[in-house]
Amino acid sequence: MLTRVLSATLTGLKPQLIEVEVDAIQGTPQFIVIGLASKAVDEAKERITAALLNCGVRIKARRTIVNLAPADLQKTGSTLELAIAAGLLQLYGEIAPLPNNCLLIGELSLDGELKPVRGCLPLVLAAQEFGLTEVLLPEANLPEVGFLTSITLRPLRNLRELLAVGGKIEQLTPHQPQPLQISESRGEADFAAIIGQIAAKRALEIAVAGNHNIHLVGPPGAGKSMLAQAAVSILPPLSISEIISVTMIHSVAGLTTQAGVLTTRPFRAPHHTTTAVGLTGGSSQLLPGEISLAHEGVLFLDEFPEFSRSALEALRQPLETKTVTITRSTGTTQYPANCMLIAASNPCQCGYWGSDKPCRCTLRERQRYHNKLSGPLLDRIDLHVRVGSVSHRQLALTTQANETSSSIRKRVVVARERQRARLAQSNFQTNGDLDGTQTKKLCKIEAAAKEVLISAGEKLGLSARGHFKVIKVAQTIADLANKPIITTAHITEALQYRPERSH
Ligand SMILES: [Zn+2]
Repeated sequence: MLTRVLSATLTGLKPQLIEVEVDAIQGTPQFIVIGLASKAVDEAKERITAALLNCGVRIKARRTIVNLAPADLQKTGSTLELAIAAGLLQLYGEIAPLPNNCLLIGELSLDGELKPVRGCLPLVLAAQEFGLTEVLLPEANLPEVGFLTSITLRPLRNLRELLAVGGKIEQLTPHQPQPLQISESRGEADFAAIIGQIAAKRALEIAVAGNHNIHLVGPPGAGKSMLAQAAVSILPPLSISEIISVTMIHSVAGLTTQAGVLTTRPFRAPHHTTTAVGLTGGSSQLLPGEISLAHEGVLFLDEFPEFSRSALEALRQPLETKTVTITRSTGTTQYPANCMLIAASNPCQCGYWGSDKPCRCTLRERQRYHNKLSGPLLDRIDLHVRVGSVSHRQLALTTQANETSSSIRKRVVVARERQRARLAQSNFQTNGDLDGTQTKKLCKIEAAAKEVLISAGEKLGLSARGHFKVIKVAQTIADLANKPIITTAHITEALQYRPERSH
C-alpha cells in the first residue's frame, strides 16, 4: 500500500514542498530512493534503516521504493529523513496514516534521535504558506521557531515518540509559543565609552543614519574596531519582519541552533583571509556569505587592503544592489545583503603614515599598499575618515561626559524616518543605491551649495559616481539636522569625507 508524507527542502532561502511517497513491491529485497536525490539524501537510507532497527522496526524483505516528488528538483540536505522514516512506518502498519495538513522535518541519527536541521525557520514559515497547520520537528530546533503562534509545532526528540503514539500526532504535546524578547542593544561598545574621536564618531553617525558604507583609516591601536562595534549600538532596533529575515539567513547557515532568534542587529567581522565565497556566499549547498549574514547590520572588514583582490571585487555588485545571487551546479539562489560596510585600514604598510609616529615605508611601498584597494571599490564607499590615536593627555584629562549611543540613536531614527518618507513620496522601486537621476530628483540643494559642489568637483576631479555620493551624504547630514534642503554647510561637510589621494 502506497503511503504519502509531506516534507520540504530549501534552495537557498526558497522552500519547496516535497511529497515523500513510499511503496513496497515484489522483487529483490532492496531500499531505493528516487527523484533526483543528492548523495546526501542517498546516504540517508543507511541512517534511516539503522534508526528504524534501533526503534525495533526492521525494513521488510521486499523491494522498498521511496519517491521524492517533484522529481525534477535536486534535493539536498537531511530535512527529509523524518518524513521518509514515517512513510516506512506507515507502510509497515506500525503507525496510523499521518494527516495531510502536517509537515515533517528532521534528520535522524542511527539510534533514532532527531537532530536539528538547517533552515528550520524558513521551512516552518513555508509550511504555513502551503496551507499546512502542523509541523513535526526536532525539539532542538525550537529556539529559532518557538515564538511562532500561527502554526502548531510538535517537537520530537526521538522517532520512538512517534511510534509510541502510533502516529496519532494529536497525542504529541504541542509547543506553547514563547513571545520574543526584543532588546534595544546587545551590550556592545557604547559611544559614551569612547574618548575623543569626535570626527570619527560624527562620520559613523552619518553613515548609520543614511546606511552609507564607511572607511576608517588610522594607525594600529587607534580604536577602529571599537568604533565599528559601537556603530551597531546607534542603529535602531530591528522590526519583527527584519528579525525574521535576519534569522532566516542565519538559520540556513546553521547558526541558530544555539543562538535561536536574532533579535539584535548582526555584526560580522570576518578575518582578512576570508575568500570571495566566504564573503558573498556559495559552496554546493548555496550557503549565505558574510555579506548576507550581516544583512540589516554591520559588515566590518578590518585590515581591508589585506583581503584578496578577488574577495574585494566580489563585494562590488552586492554593495550596490544589496542582494547576492549565487549560481552553482546545484541551483541558483538569491540572498538579501542590505548591510552597512565598515572597512578599516592602516594608512600604509607599517601603519604610521600621517600619524605622530614615524613611517618606515618607502614611497613605493606606500603606493603599492594604497593600490591594493581598487578605485571602483573605494568609490562605492561613501565616507572616508581619518581616525587618529588619542593622546595620553586626552585619555587622562578628559572629564567631559560623552554623548551616549541611545541619545545619538534618536537622531538616527529621525533621519531614517525623513529618508523613508522621501522615498515613499517618490515612485522609486529600489532597495539598492539610488542612481544619479534619482538622486537629482530626490535631493533638494540650495543654489549656493550647488556652486560649492561644482567648483569642488572640478578641483578634486570627482567622478560622476563621486559627485552623487557627495549629494547623498549631504542629504543624510541635512536629515540629521532635520532640514528640508541641502545647504552649503552640508555639502562642505560631505566633501570632507572623500577618499584621500594616493600619497
Ligand atoms: Zn608606513
